[in-house]
Amino acid sequence: MSEVDVAIVGGGVAGLAAAVTLAEQGLKVVVLESRSILGGRARSWVDGVTRDPVHIGPHVVVSEYPNFFKLLEKLQTLEKIVWQPWRHFVTFVQGKVDYHIRTRPLPAPASWGPASIFDPFVTWADKHSTVPAAVHCLGLDEEELMKLDGQSGAEFLRGLGVTEDYIRHFWGFLSHAILNVPVEEVSAAALVRFFRRLVGRSSMEMGFSGCGLGELLVPAKPFLEKLGSTVRTSTEVRGFLGSERCEGVVLDSGEEIRPKLGVISSLPPQTFLPLVPVAWEGAGFRSLEALKPCKYISVYLWFDRKVTEGMQMWARTYSKDDLNCEFYDFSEIYPGKDAQGQPWKERPSFVGSNIIDSGRLADMTDEEIVQGTLREMQERFPKALEAKVLHSVVNRIPMAIHRPVVGTESLRPDQATEVPGLYLAGCWTRTEFPSSMESAARSGFLAADALLRGQGRQSQAAIAYGPISLSARLVGKLDVLRPMLLAPLFRGLVRLSGAPKSKL
Ligand SMILES: Cc1cc2nc3c(=O)[nH]c(=O)nc-3n(C[C@H](O)[C@H](O)[C@H](O)COP(=O)(O)OP(=O)(O)OC[C@H]3O[C@@H](n4cnc5c(N)ncnc54)[C@H](O)[C@@H]3O)c2cc1C
Repeated sequence: MSEVDVAIVGGGVAGLAAAVTLAEQGLKVVVLESRSILGGRARSWVDGVTRDPVHIGPHVVVSEYPNFFKLLEKLQTLEKIVWQPWRHFVTFVQGKVDYHIRTRPLPAPASWGPASIFDPFVTWADKHSTVPAAVHCLGLDEEELMKLDGQSGAEFLRGLGVTEDYIRHFWGFLSHAILNVPVEEVSAAALVRFFRRLVGRSSMEMGFSGCGLGELLVPAKPFLEKLGSTVRTSTEVRGFLGSERCEGVVLDSGEEIRPKLGVISSLPPQTFLPLVPVAWEGAGFRSLEALKPCKYISVYLWFDRKVTEGMQMWARTYSKDDLNCEFYDFSEIYPGKDAQGQPWKERPSFVGSNIIDSGRLADMTDEEIVQGTLREMQERFPKALEAKVLHSVVNRIPMAIHRPVVGTESLRPDQATEVPGLYLAGCWTRTEFPSSMESAARSGFLAADALLRGQGRQSQAAIAYGPISLSARLVGKLDVLRPMLLAPLFRGLVRLSGAPKSKL
């Protein structure tokens, strides 16, 4: 192929964010993607039976996704995001009971206060017990956060006096749903960082793709081609070239691509490592073996009638014995009409759900997964008992994100590597955000910035995260009062609220 400036390995969110940035800077890039479609772990396709768009697994976005939205804005697909009602964060479901987590128009963290105070699934003692911990978390900066990487979320919270029930209910849910590992295993640094971002803002809204997820990203191809760059799908990279520096990549076909300025790899760690030449052994990549994949099973059920009472999305309160974490009814989410011209809102329920960290369920058959998912739906929605499932799909996904267990936050590498000419992108690299589409987009922008700076050019594509709100920072300052005042006061309140001694 004709000469290129930069080769980008992988056409997921990270690779495309890097490619778009560099192409806009006038560089000629080639994106090399092994699959026949773009999107990577955010890809989608049309279901062969129903002709409906199906994501690899249901995804959410939150209002704090500045880098991902910047990418979508460039690709002119940002308007395809569908938002839940203003200030609605999530609906918890336990048995037949719903609880809507909504923020109030107050400064953070008070805006989240009423939702926590009236939470029906935990006791007053549990709620009191978490206040000193919340204040402590809001008072930490990034450097202090990273020092927590050596302990688990549960250990950290116990040390601050949070009851076991509250650790399981609130922190356990956050850990499972966002970071995808149990709170007993999660790095306290990763958990606390996300908590600060959530509660440090007056509000955080959740939204969904209003079309197949990959459709948000596929306009990257014409975008790049218009700027003189190339996207090659069904093109697998078999290895990196060079010993002192990264000189390029070799493809499955044997073709070598030697770009003028460098290579950006956006491969996940376990795909990247086998391709690393022996000569780069000293570059510190081996530690990335500790970033293990978190498996998912995503389930899609097409019903013969409406069963979800108009709900777009809900999450089960956390229990380690459950199958699914969250559910989505796409007939209530997708705007407009389906491929047959029928308005989505008039369609029977088309429900997707995610089973997170699904390695524990490897022995279950697809039919058992479908029946188990149906049972979990029927607990809340009696109509699902009478309804027929017309069609189902079970996607077994080897990696949704890496497992952010104790010690792994410090292992997330910078985008510039010790190998000249090689840059890393991918949701798992260092972005100060949990692995997600936002982290992937930011990593791609950071990798492009690093490459351009290496060429002596100014570049600031990645959007930095601002500090949490002033009011939340002021609450964090109260942490100085914690040892002498807050902790004893709330311990007293926990006792007065009648918590069993074992929970203190
Ligand atoms: C079921 C599921 C649910 C999720 N839910 C959410 C959510 O709600 N919100 C959220 O923000 N994130 C969610 N995520 C995570 C999110 O999808 C990922 O963090 C993000 O898409 C990762 O993007 P990436 O570009 O870093 O990596 P990838 O998307 O993995 O990109 C790497 C690309 O490299 C390609 N590739 C691999 N090997 C080669 C090779 N040898 N040669 C060439 N190309 C190769 C792959 O095909 C892939 O396209 C979810 C993921 C899954 C799977």
